[in-house]
Amino acid sequence: MTAVTSEEGLHDHVRDSAPEFWQALIDLVKHKSTADRPDPPLRTTAETIVGLFRSVGLSSAGVTTITHGGKTSAPLVYADQRADTDDARTVLLYAHYDVQPADESTWQVTKPFVPKEVAAGGDTRLYGRGAADDKSGVVMHLGALKALRDTRSGLPVNVKVVVEGEEESGSVLDSYLADNPGDPRFKADLVVVADTGNLAVGLPALTSTLRGILVVDVTVRTLAKEVHSGMYGGPAPDAFMVLARLLSTLHDANGDVAVPGLTRFEHDWPAVPEEQYRENAGVEPGVDLVGTGTLAQRLFGRPALNVVGLRGAPSMDRPANVLHPEVTARISVRLAPNQDPDAALRAIEEHIGANAPEAVVREVEPVSLGQGFAAYRGPYHAAVETALKTAYGTDDVAHAGQGGSIPLVSALHAANPGSDIVLWGCEEPLANIHGDDESVSRSELERMTLAEALLLNALAGPRR
Ligand SMILES: [Zn+2]
Repeated sequence: MTAVTSEEGLHDHVRDSAPEFWQALIDLVKHKSTADRPDPPLRTTAETIVGLFRSVGLSSAGVTTITHGGKTSAPLVYADQRADTDDARTVLLYAHYDVQPADESTWQVTKPFVPKEVAAGGDTRLYGRGAADDKSGVVMHLGALKALRDTRSGLPVNVKVVVEGEEESGSVLDSYLADNPGDPRFKADLVVVADTGNLAVGLPALTSTLRGILVVDVTVRTLAKEVHSGMYGGPAPDAFMVLARLLSTLHDANGDVAVPGLTRFEHDWPAVPEEQYRENAGVEPGVDLVGTGTLAQRLFGRPALNVVGLRGAPSMDRPANVLHPEVTARISVRLAPNQDPDAALRAIEEHIGANAPEAVVREVEPVSLGQGFAAYRGPYHAAVETALKTAYGTDDVAHAGQGGSIPLVSALHAANPGSDIVLWGCEEPLANIHGDDESVSRSELERMTLAEALLLNALAGPRR
């Protein structure tokens, strides 16, 4: 691989253009591109991003949609731009512009869609929903492409850009690609997903594993109707109390998930410091953590199971002395990176079947499934590590896990089985993605942009 542009040239360019891209990020954060807001807000954001990619030389950028399984996707930003040489490698750059909804009343630093810069410790953080997850990923790609375009005659690699608008809410692209892995639009030698982050500001990491996800609704029905708790309570089974006993069988006395068939995955993750973890998670003093094994094993390699919604349950908004006839719990299960979500669903069904009282009417309804990911180290892995080390001036890159899920990653991997999939980005722990006062570090954005520019530059030259 011959690097046409000098590392210093790219370094200088990324530093000099950082103010321009920081401003682009500030402007993007003002877009309320939450998944619960359909067209036109999402389309406006997609068109804005198309304009940005065109401004850095990707004249092929446009808005499209994917239709699959009777659903049409949110507007998808797509570009397919040729390199300046024949036989060049192809790199697919992925990010998403949709963001999690945000509750204004609980944000303290600023309102979710009113970006605010705060200087601290020689760095600046930008607060606002999506500043990190994942508009920083969009801006990383823009900055890297601009640096390459300005410091050489053209692109060192063929570039495909995929910026989707529904990563947070169930992606049509994910199910489409899982069913159509041969679609040439998504073929690449290297896939760069800019939607994770480092161990901490200044401590570079590649994400090696992602947990999968399974969401199911479990319904228990015991009575034909709501009845008085004094006249009938005692012998008549209340659906909520039966459900509560059933839910308690999902963990053992240590707090480990106790569903046979939900598997574990072992990997050499860097240690997760408990004090830091407790602080980030906001665990109250004196509250014990649950489960056994190292924190990294529990967070990245083992299943985690929690109730995230209840329907038909008693409510303090309308407390009444009645027995509840039917209650549904929505259960979110994080899966080991290599667990098949369909097998996990069967395991949950069997466990519920075996532990619910015989006479209770119960149903297990799948809501969504997503495969996890365990990174395959392919031919470009060394180039990826080198780019990251050079950008950060370090000798070491951590291979981290992530407890969350990005289902599209496994579909991209299935579509490109011999390719490296790079998971990196600006979402370090202080970014508090999905939470209140989400933010991104300016120094992280600059260094990750440089890492991406260095990587693409290092891939210049013919494929073989
Ligand atoms: Zn994301």
